[in-house]
Amino acid sequence: MVKDNLILNWILNSNINKNSYTFSMKNLKNALLLKQLYQLKQLGYKYTSVTIFKEDEPDLTLPNTIETLKKQAHECHLCQLSKSRNKVVFGEGSETAIVMIVGDAPSNSDDSSGKVFTGRSGELLTKMIENVLGLKRQEVYISNVLKCRALDTQSPSPAFAHTCHPYLLKQIDLIKPKIIIAFGELAYQYLTGDDSSLTETRGTVYEKEGYKVIPTYHPNYLLRNPSVKKEVFEDLKKVKVLLETR
Ligand code: SF4
Repeated sequence: MVKDNLILNWILNSNINKNSYTFSMKNLKNALLLKQLYQLKQLGYKYTSVTIFKEDEPDLTLPNTIETLKKQAHECHLCQLSKSRNKVVFGEGSETAIVMIVGDAPSNSDDSSGKVFTGRSGELLTKMIENVLGLKRQEVYISNVLKCRALDTQSPSPAFAHTCHPYLLKQIDLIKPKIIIAFGELAYQYLTGDDSSLTETRGTVYEKEGYKVIPTYHPNYLLRNPSVKKEVFEDLKKVKVLLETR
């Protein structure tokens, strides 16, 4: 008892501001806490490594197969969209696809079904793939920057896209496409790091290590603005030429 009173006195005295002779309540609480700890030690308790109580560190490395990556995305709660989504829309298609198609975010109907590019824009996309590229839909790989529906589907928050886009980069890393069609500005910017507007970049070919990125209008935009049909057709023809000459 004499010993712990000595410790308490030493702690109290050491925290006194010599000029004002005041000490804070925080210092007093710390001193009392230390006194209690000292008493527990007297009773036979020992110091214990805090690592026992630590939560598991989140595994920040992404898996090396599409199936396990998909499983991880399905269990993802890294951003707020996990609270409002119905289903994670990971993406689908051939895992050895030469052509990959990347949109911005799942639509409401994608969110209900868990499938990518459903509804009217999905039907339009299938026609683009079959009629212009001369491929079957299941021969390409289709995904989005965001794997969960954005609350504002017209302009998904860049913060969510920033959190989610490593999944997309890993999909590209695993599938190794030669050509990526970026539907819309957000997809193009996250694929290339180039923040130019779509009006400036549409129809150009951006060379990345191992693949080319070609930006064009999103099928949703095309449905609302049929006047851009010619531009989209030209961009897809460019993809077709690249496919034939690679
Ligand atoms: S949007 Fe992406 S980061 Fe956010 S919860 Fe869904 S999968 Fe996770």
